[in-house]
Amino acid sequence: MATPILTIVVPCYNEEEVLPETVFRLSGVLDALIADKLIASSSTMLLVDDGSKDATWALIERFHEANTFVTGLKLAKNAGHQSALLAGLMKAKAYSDCVVSIDADLQDDTDAIREFIIKFHEGYDIVYGVRQDRSADTFFKRATAQGFYKLMTSLGVKIHYNHADFRLMSKRTLDNLEKFQEVNLFLRGMVPLLGFPSTQVYYDRKERFAGESKYPLRKMLAFAFDGITSFSVTPIRFVTLMGFLLFLLSVCAGIYAIVGKLVGANVTGWTSLIVSVWFIGGVQLLALGLIGEYIGKIYKEVKQRPLFVIEKDLTAHATAQSELTDSTFKQSISGRG
Ligand code: UDP
Ligand code: MG
Repeated sequence: MATPILTIVVPCYNEEEVLPETVFRLSGVLDALIADKLIASSSTMLLVDDGSKDATWALIERFHEANTFVTGLKLAKNAGHQSALLAGLMKAKAYSDCVVSIDADLQDDTDAIREFIIKFHEGYDIVYGVRQDRSADTFFKRATAQGFYKLMTSLGVKIHYNHADFRLMSKRTLDNLEKFQEVNLFLRGMVPLLGFPSTQVYYDRKERFAGESKYPLRKMLAFAFDGITSFSVTPIRFVTLMGFLLFLLSVCAGIYAIVGKLVGANVTGWTSLIVSVWFIGGVQLLALGLIGEYIGKIYKEVKQRPLFVIEKDLTAHATAQSELTDSTFKQSISGRG
């Protein structure tokens, strides 16, 4: 392969404090990779300003004038980390062979980008950056993050343990990611769905270089909840299960109450009351869960996720020749390549 063009996409929200250092370090990484002929000299970084309220965009403009590596994209208003990232990825894929996404705060090891590129040369389409050591994070952040990964996995969502959004993606994976028309973005859950050849690179997580986390607890919880409800209908199943259990319980309670009535130990009116309470409660939950099942299906339909992702296509020759034939014929010969 000729030396690939790399674009490093960096979402930035109120990052004026770290940006100069980030640009400096990433320029160094690009410089060294170009010198070693691992990437093309036209490789750049794309700083996406996610509607910052501070001087972030003014800085980006300044860097763009002074440093040929720096390009920028300004979103009209704060769209959130995931959307800002996607905007950058979709922009960059038009002119790049591979794209690396990294946070602006230098918590992820910029030196790992070299290993990403080496893996890309080895033929991997997706390289996940995985945090080896999180001791730089606060205990609280570590515990909540780890609990989140465990919960996601137990709910049947495939995500990579300790991987955030520090990764390399090839152009073709991004082309396929574009087909996901989701509004509730949870990129680290969507990328594994693509299924291209992928590998992991381990690195140590550092402390934020400067400034404060742009992910307060409130945003973090919302993000986690989004991730779960965008990828799993298990919570709805749980309601159905609860309803079923309660229904069973109501049968037991009913038997108990009726036996009590026959024995004559009950206060008048209690039997019918208690049986109805349990029964109605169970039936209601069951019905809710059932409706939820259908809503879950509707939700999946509405998402319009692509049903498959094509990795290699050897039909270009055949389809080019059969331009005038009908589509069924095209399909029947496409297997011959
Ligand atoms: N970010 C963004 N939009 C937002 C919030 C955050 O683009 O609304 C960016 C932020 O500038 C940083 C990255 O997303 O580059 C991750 O944010 P942060 O480091 O604050 O999150 P944490 O590491 O604390 O989870
Ligand atoms: Mg951070």
